[in-house]
Amino acid sequence: MSKNIVIIGTGYVGLVTGACFAKVGNTITFVDIDKEKIDMINKGVVPFYEPGLDNLLSSYRGKINATVDYKVIKDNDITFVCVGTPSKDDGSIDLIHVKQAVENIGGILKEINRWHHVVIKSTVLPGTTEKILLPILEKKSGKNATMDFGLSMNPEFLREGTAVYDFLNADRIVIGANDERSADELVNLYKSFSLKIFKTSITTAEMIKYASNAFLATKISFVNEIGNMCKKLGIDAYEVADGMGLDKRIGRAFLDSGIGWGGSCFPKDLDALISWAKMIGEEHRIISSVVEVNKRQPLKMIDLLKKHVPNLNGKTIGVLGLAFKPNTDDIRGSRAVPVVNQLLKEKAVVKAFDPKAMENFKKMFLQIKYCSSAEEALDSDAVLVLTKWEEFKKLDFTGKIVIDGRRLLEAKKTARIYEGVCW
Ligand code: NAD
Repeated sequence: MSKNIVIIGTGYVGLVTGACFAKVGNTITFVDIDKEKIDMINKGVVPFYEPGLDNLLSSYRGKINATVDYKVIKDNDITFVCVGTPSKDDGSIDLIHVKQAVENIGGILKEINRWHHVVIKSTVLPGTTEKILLPILEKKSGKNATMDFGLSMNPEFLREGTAVYDFLNADRIVIGANDERSADELVNLYKSFSLKIFKTSITTAEMIKYASNAFLATKISFVNEIGNMCKKLGIDAYEVADGMGLDKRIGRAFLDSGIGWGGSCFPKDLDALISWAKMIGEEHRIISSVVEVNKRQPLKMIDLLKKHVPNLNGKTIGVLGLAFKPNTDDIRGSRAVPVVNQLLKEKAVVKAFDPKAMENFKKMFLQIKYCSSAEEALDSDAVLVLTKWEEFKKLDFTGKIVIDGRRLLEAKKTARIYEGVCW
């Protein structure tokens, strides 16, 4: 049976979740504190770049609405909380947005006389939903969880750049609930997608999300360490990964070496996990090493560059790619940030190009030159490949020094000098 769903927070997770639920027949109302975003969504415009999302939003416009007013919760059955959970300066999780959202929801629950279901989709540390968010909901509403309203935790695993596909084809849906009614309602809601469902407790669901992200980041940092050894020995780290990946216990996914992981999730989630482990007095050696390896890895680009251009002072360096991965305009945690910082420290002149992320990068770096095409960035003393955008494959690198952090092997064919970071 179709439901009336409210989605709080219209970022990558909120907007994709809402659009996909609309696709299978539900009615969606988005709520965000950002009025500009809300106006864009009501006009059918996606406020950020995510392939396929604009089509989905416009196809189901009749089932979608957006507002800044939390009161809409009154006329709906389920509310998903999808607001951001960024890091504080000390790396610990900042719950300000999620607490604010839940306070507002609690205030509305007070005014309704029927059961309403609150689902936490934002990534929060184990114990947060039950020990922090549930008490806020009960206090603000004057009602009891389970009896008067449902509460569950449904972590999200989508990747930016392929978010719609990932939502619709998820490997599993994790449903964390401590009461049957909430669990059953979410199981029914997700039924239309025919995906594997894993039911568990709220706290376990929270931990599954962190453990998954930490493990994926570990695979990458591990393979980068192996990749650095391979580079020294003249071995192709990708061939090693192919050989390793054939072992079913290992698998080939997330074994592509390069300049490290970034994005809006891994960096802040691993920092939050470390900070939380410290708080509960537990070891975090592996996770801390994973983060350390990842901090050093992008600077390998500068070492390789200096093999061929020893003094960067006054040299023009072309940077291809600023987004943390292709098919997104998101630069949060992008490896381009430490690389560009180091280039500027060494007084290089940076000429950068990215098909989608230049506007976001400008908010951090005003002092570099932004090119109107990739070709323009190639007109430099050396070129660094930092994001593997499809269009970079077609470039002519003839005569160039290319340092490749993302295995753009097409560049190897024409470059005068080519160095892969781990191959
Ligand atoms: P985002 O930063 O892209 O968007 C968050 C949205 O929440 C913004 O539009 C913001 O204006 C809004 N917001 C903040 N406070 C609000 C409030 N009180 N009421 C209403 N709206 C409010 O975030 P995101 O990338 O979509 O991530 C959301 C959550 O999902 C995070 O916890 C993140 O860790 C998790 N997650 C993200 C991804 C991803 O790839 N981006 C994947 C899985 C899980």
